[in-house]
Amino acid sequence: MSYLLEVKNLKKYFTVPNGLLHAVDDVSFSIKKGETLGIVGESGCGKSTLGRVILRLHEPTSGRILYEGMDITTFSKSEMIHMRRNMQIIFQDPYASLNPRFTVAQIIEEPLKIHKLYKTSGERKERIEELMEMVGLSKRVYNSYPHEFDGGRRQRIVIARALSINPQFIVCDEPVSALDVSVQAQILNLMMELQKKLGLTYIFISHDLSVVKHISDNVGVMYLGQLIEKASKKKIFKKPLHPYTNALLSSIPSINVDVKKERQILRGEIASPINPKQGCRFAKRCEFAADICFNSNPKYVEAEEDHFVACHRFEEAANDI
Ligand code: ADP
Repeated sequence: MSYLLEVKNLKKYFTVPNGLLHAVDDVSFSIKKGETLGIVGESGCGKSTLGRVILRLHEPTSGRILYEGMDITTFSKSEMIHMRRNMQIIFQDPYASLNPRFTVAQIIEEPLKIHKLYKTSGERKERIEELMEMVGLSKRVYNSYPHEFDGGRRQRIVIARALSINPQFIVCDEPVSALDVSVQAQILNLMMELQKKLGLTYIFISHDLSVVKHISDNVGVMYLGQLIEKASKKKIFKKPLHPYTNALLSSIPSINVDVKKERQILRGEIASPINPKQGCRFAKRCEFAADICFNSNPKYVEAEEDHFVACHRFEEAANDI
């Protein structure tokens, strides 16, 4: 099976005053071309750091990142600049990521100039107009400035800029979290349309499970720096194996009044990501925890075909869920 991206035992530790903060801790997964992998988890669990390390915007502490089979962790800075033509990132706050002194056209043109993709300004103009149309921006706003737009249209500019250099792979870091719910759906649908049209591969980071459910093929759940479960969207939402995933799912409001889902409130102490102790990091909040959970780290195993979990007690938990 050929994967576009393979992440192997990736770690990113930050040195902080009282030790080493394990922001991403031994994460492994693969993504096929054209797929969307949603990454969910509470704030601070390491989603953004994971996204940035994959693009080497943060240097990994250890582990390997293979892109089309090439180990990009060994690439020099200039090789990485070249690689970023294929790998782009879209951030949460479109306002902060757009230069207020540039027009829409100048913003979209910038990467074209950096990567010297078109020789003449006429060719670049043609490409800018094509991209604006692709993301649903009228030609009339070619010379407008970011402050003239609402959040949704600003995110369209960000998407056009990211697509300008024809990347294959995009890390989308909470791209709709700052937008109104009605606008969120428009941007998500646009991203899905573009994915189909251009054959894009996404890592879609969000704390919002309903957003991830809308856009993802596969879903990975993170807890305190670790990937604790990964499977197809269908399996994760129908039959989660990890007690933490189940607790997260119970927090999604249901619009079906016949479905009476009990919201599970997580109690217990949240472990620290700084110099974490031996054992499962979720154990103190887990109703299924046994002695083994406090004494040894659960292995990340393939419990069923294409369904991975890191939990000593997933069989007991899954029977109860
Ligand atoms: P998320 O995206 O899931 O909210 P982050 O990846 O932003 O989580 O953060 C993961 C952990 O790493 C947090 O504990 C955060 O405080 C810490 N962290 C992130 N960036 C840095 C940094 N540059 N220096 C030190 N700690 C960091």
